[in-house]
Amino acid sequence: MPTSIGHALAGAAAAWSADLVPGRRAWRTAPPSSSWYRRAGNGLTLVCAVLGAIADADLLFHIHRTFTHSITAVIVVGVLAGAIAAASNRPVVRVASMCAAAYGTHLLLDWLAVDLWPPYGIQLFWPFSDAWYISPWIVFPQIERARLFSAATLRLNALAIAQEIAVLAPILIVMWLVRVKALARLAAQLSGSDHSAE
Ligand SMILES: [Zn+2]
Repeated sequence: MPTSIGHALAGAAAAWSADLVPGRRAWRTAPPSSSWYRRAGNGLTLVCAVLGAIADADLLFHIHRTFTHSITAVIVVGVLAGAIAAASNRPVVRVASMCAAAYGTHLLLDWLAVDLWPPYGIQLFWPFSDAWYISPWIVFPQIERARLFSAATLRLNALAIAQEIAVLAPILIVMWLVRVKALARLAAQLSGSDHSAE
């Protein structure tokens, strides 16, 4: 399974791809002069990065890769995010699907990763099925959690992080460039319609 770094990158990528979907997204734009944080989509992109990684908090409770790694959990995240969006006057479907997609990337990355400890994979369809699912295609290597600060573990995990970045960084870079362009066009349209309304 990938590290939290790989998962967080995938969560941010999900937020940025949702920004490309037409609809009520003017609030996601930021002027080019604003900070990188605002241009990257502010707190909601950060929340999506956290959502991409948070499923592995189940390690603390010894229920790893069970219901936390299921479609049911993705739906729960979407419903909760939608409720928060409704309470804060944000587009409900957009925020709900953005957060659900960010959480869903965790399942995708784990499914695509090496798993050396049985049962292999994730309980994708919990509670409707107890079956464990893992991809026949391996994209991400196994990481080590024992003896975290031993030289061998540090080397293995550094290599795993490098591989995750090698796979995900090109996707993020393309996504960033496309998103910046799309939102800049949207901001220009909005300011144009403001002027014509004057
Ligand atoms: Zn996981």
